[in-house]
Amino acid sequence: MPTSTAHKARKRFGQNFLTDEKIIDRIIATIAPKVDDNLLEIGPGQGAMTLPLLEKVECLNVIEIDRDLIQILTSYNKPNLIINEGDALNFDLNQFNPPIRVVGNLPYNISSPILFHLLENRDKIIDMTFMLQKEVVERMVAKHNSKIYGRLSVMMQAFFNVEMIFIVPPESFDPAPKVDSAIVYLTPLKQCKVANIAIFEKVVKAAFAHRRKTLRNCLKSLLTQEQTQIDLSQRAEMLDVDTFITLAKDYEKQH
Ligand code: SAM
Repeated sequence: MPTSTAHKARKRFGQNFLTDEKIIDRIIATIAPKVDDNLLEIGPGQGAMTLPLLEKVECLNVIEIDRDLIQILTSYNKPNLIINEGDALNFDLNQFNPPIRVVGNLPYNISSPILFHLLENRDKIIDMTFMLQKEVVERMVAKHNSKIYGRLSVMMQAFFNVEMIFIVPPESFDPAPKVDSAIVYLTPLKQCKVANIAIFEKVVKAAFAHRRKTLRNCLKSLLTQEQTQIDLSQRAEMLDVDTFITLAKDYEKQH
């Protein structure tokens, strides 16, 4: 098992390496890899999850941005490990022989952009199992009428079934992050009701731009009360995901 003493963790790449064997075992059990799965790991680091995964699958693709870590991964000499150097935010998922299962202990500083990049590629994805900050996972699964329900909750739940699986304490990493983490499991919805993703995103973003203001105020440049049956005197956090989908369709009808 590699140790983090071999590599000085880089903050700018969000490096917190998993060291807790029990947690690693639980994550692998959650992923439950099958031998012929097309697995893609984002941010393999020194291989805390990669090495146990390699024992279960015929072939594993990883994307890593840090050249020093690529050297470490290469030194393991694993014939079934395909190392892709680069930025997970710019990777074309088509090159990984879809449909794929995506996994990773994600760099926390760019976890939302990675989730949005994957959302745009969801048709190529079977499921995703990620470690994220617990607070981010709580926002992803939050329901309407809660203070933490927001853009991330609506955008994720409109396209995925999202489930928090278990919480991981800071001591499970080296260096230890300041906050708790959590494992989240996402599967693309079979029947996604969103008609136009760009329009949906625009409406959701505008609706949550000022949480304390009414929708009438937040959406004034997009849509008036006459153009929708949805009561715009409400605030964004009061609308469930399906109502946002209707609102976006009402906006689309006008444009
Ligand atoms: N999976 C390892 C583990 O659990 O110990 C490392 C997890 S660490 C939280 C995040 C990893 O993502 C690091 O290896 C980091 O270098 C890598 N990373 C950061 N930004 C990235 C990016 N844009 N694209 C690909 N990998 C990235």
